[in-house]
Amino acid sequence: MKVELICVGTELLLGSIVNTNAAYLSEKCAGLGLSCYFQTVVGDNEERLTQVLEMAMERSDIILLSGGLGPTEDDLTKETAAKVCGKKLVLHEPSKEAIRKFFAAKGASPTDNNWKQAMLPEGCIVLENHNGTAPGVIMETDHGRVILLPGPPNELRPMFQESVVPYLSEITSQVICSKTVKICGVGESQAETMVKDLIDSQGNPTIATYAKTGEVHIRVTANAGDKKAAMKLIKPVVKELKNRFGNHVYSTEEETTLEKAVADLVIANGLTLTCAESCTGGLLSARLINVPGISEVYKSGVITYSNKAKRRMLGVKKCTLLKHGAVSEKTAEEMAKGAASMHKADVATAITGIAGPDGGTPEKPVGLVYIACSVKGQMTVKKYLFSGSREKVRESAVSAALVLMRDCILEYYSKVTFGK
Ligand code: ATP
Ligand code: MG
Repeated sequence: MKVELICVGTELLLGSIVNTNAAYLSEKCAGLGLSCYFQTVVGDNEERLTQVLEMAMERSDIILLSGGLGPTEDDLTKETAAKVCGKKLVLHEPSKEAIRKFFAAKGASPTDNNWKQAMLPEGCIVLENHNGTAPGVIMETDHGRVILLPGPPNELRPMFQESVVPYLSEITSQVICSKTVKICGVGESQAETMVKDLIDSQGNPTIATYAKTGEVHIRVTANAGDKKAAMKLIKPVVKELKNRFGNHVYSTEEETTLEKAVADLVIANGLTLTCAESCTGGLLSARLINVPGISEVYKSGVITYSNKAKRRMLGVKKCTLLKHGAVSEKTAEEMAKGAASMHKADVATAITGIAGPDGGTPEKPVGLVYIACSVKGQMTVKKYLFSGSREKVRESAVSAALVLMRDCILEYYSKVTFGK
């Protein structure tokens, strides 16, 4: 089945907001095995929306629209779409009641124009909105199915997940399931090369790679009559991917992030953790502290931006800084060593680098970063050269630090086990 997206909003055309709904919906549709060939952004304008919607209905089976379901005059998606589909708007009592309750729960009263949101196309399927007042709408016509969703992402996403996904699975009379194999420490092109044969010969399941900073995700998606049958198709492919990528696979769970995988490893081995950061200014600690339960193992860490702070708070030697500079292998090593002893941690990770845009030299260009990781005194220091903006360099450094921590802990324990 062919699906098409229409995002409505003059704000989108002006660049005042980023079209994250399009990214979300297209990713979800791809995950459901639906082909999306067109995406359009159109302003809050009846004539142009009519034109775009008519064209979409000619060439696609399912049209997903986002935005313009609000109570104000400029919100005209529902009115326009109903007209194009030849449906009248009629009062939908349960939605009126839901709007009344929504306001009552907040101790507020609706304004007159709020009732406009309870006027829905006759015969449509109504999608409840638990996070706002605009109900979603599905219109089934001879020229395809038209699905209207509210613009705010905190309303659109739960509505899509709760109501649209089951609806789409039912009309395709198929269940679509997917599993993501999450890989770190392997570049995107290398990962793609390693699975090229699988991608080239793919059918059901399909295999798609997604590059993230410092990670690659491979999503395996299968269609089948029921979930069990779909998982049966997915399982051998996931197994094959695990074989090929070995230790680089950090998870196959949807909710597990790289920082969570690292935190789990630290917790599982009864270790404690600290970070000493220069150019990343606490971003590494912030990502780790995002993981619930980290307080068990992470007690304290430091941001040491200046040379003085590196000396005073981590005990980096003056001569090291003079001889090698703040961005050097030796400084990174002394930062990690100092952090481990001062914060009494088993695992200490230090980052020092040049994030740019200024401060680079031919010998030490922008993007040069040293990361050190000490696991119970076993030290590893690595040199990296990242590209891109200041933000990108810092983000890449944090991801690389997480990957290095993971590698160092795994290596430490593989040796311990091996030596026994
Ligand atoms: P409201 O009831 O808030 O008016 P609506 O369904 O009419 O909701 P819009 O008026 O089009 O939706 O957009 C409301 C807000 O939702 C926007 O200001 C923006 O913050 C967000 N939004 C709308 N469309 C998108 C989009 N495509 N991607 C991301 N955010 C969006
Ligand atoms: Mg609006």
